Amino acid sequence: MNLILLGAPGAGKGTQAEVICDHLQIPALSTGNILREALKQGTELGLKAKSYMDGGKLVPDEVVIAIIKERLTAPDCENGFILDGFPRTVPQAQALDAMGVRIDRVIDIEVPDEKIEQRLSGRRVCESCGASYHMLYKPSAVAGVCDKCGGNTVQRKDDHPDTVRERLAVYHEQTEPLKDYYEKTGKLVIVEGQEEVSDTSELVLKALRA
Ligand code: AMP
Repeated sequence: MNLILLGAPGAGKGTQAEVICDHLQIPALSTGNILREALKQGTELGLKAKSYMDGGKLVPDEVVIAIIKERLTAPDCENGFILDGFPRTVPQAQALDAMGVRIDRVIDIEVPDEKIEQRLSGRRVCESCGASYHMLYKPSAVAGVCDKCGGNTVQRKDDHPDTVRERLAVYHEQTEPLKDYYEKTGKLVIVEGQEEVSDTSELVLKALRA
């Protein structure tokens, strides 16, 4: 199954991508994680993306399109994949179509902006494997240590309040139009993000069966 997860930053796409990944045994491809890894490694791609990411802006379409185009050719995508954080603009969605990529379902996780701001301030991510936690809603067993790989969990630079507001503005302006785009294809399923992560997961897994 080829899936897209849509939703504002902090709507829980990454967490739900992990749940689907375990459930369907297909890889979750996060452009955000790929870019953060490039940044950490100090590659040319990372350097190019840094100022956009730090400011809460989108990295130029051609950069992320090239990343996804290459990633989708890897053998682990043969039986399906979950796109988490891509596409984020209409031209990115059009590029995916132009690559001839079939999309089976688009799950949009809806969370009000006030909730997002509250959630992102408590979010922590693993520096090593990218797993996502929340200080209140989904703490790691040992504070600051990733349950999955033992890496350090830290606050992302772009989860600071001013940058979060910018990311939300960018989301509403550039990413939200994708709901219309995929509504027209009949593939869109809207899931209301719940207080409990596991309740959202239940709705997401149900959306896969719909
Ligand atoms: P994320 O972890 O998905 O919230 O992504 C973190 C940051 O990476 C975003 O704020 C953007 O700067 C950049 N980014 C990730 N995915 C995309 C994309 N599809 N298009 C443009 N920029 C992206």
